[in-house]
Amino acid sequence: MRQRRSKNYRKQMALYSRAFQFREPYQVLVDGDLCYDVTMYKMNLEKQLENILQGTIKPMITQCCIKSLYDRGDEAKEAIELAKRFERRRCNHLETPLSQSDCLNAVVNVKGKNKHRYVVATQNARLRHQFRAIAAVPLIYINRSVMIMEPLSPATQLAVRKSEEEKLSAGLNNPRSRA
Ligand SMILES: [Zn+2]
Repeated sequence: MRQRRSKNYRKQMALYSRAFQFREPYQVLVDGDLCYDVTMYKMNLEKQLENILQGTIKPMITQCCIKSLYDRGDEAKEAIELAKRFERRRCNHLETPLSQSDCLNAVVNVKGKNKHRYVVATQNARLRHQFRAIAAVPLIYINRSVMIMEPLSPATQLAVRKSEEEKLSAGLNNPRSRA
């Protein structure tokens, strides 16, 4: 990984942890298509995620996302083996499975917030676009065999500023911190 990119990622993760209490091991929800691309490009998913997030990680996959791999059949054999190693995130859509993007939306977006502090690794550009509107959803995808984390979205930047301002005013109103 290029030096500058690595430094940017470190800064980003420091913000996610300070402003939004992200903690290791980072829970990464991986979609079926990203699993598939990882095997196609012969990448090491866990290692790459650790490099980007610069800490320990816990890859997870929802029931609907792994089902999408089974639906692809033989061509996805390797990707299924990979996904089986991950912790299964129960999404309770087993009876009527959802599309991967609807499922991830249901799991991540709790009343407009990323309540469980998931990192989302998805090849679905439209879904990433939707998640940019929610503060503090780190987004990862693969672009031509390079794994990338998106820069902080404007919604996230705004929430960071708000949280820093709140801390500042809390500090000013705390007599102990004035001494
Ligand atoms: Zn689901």
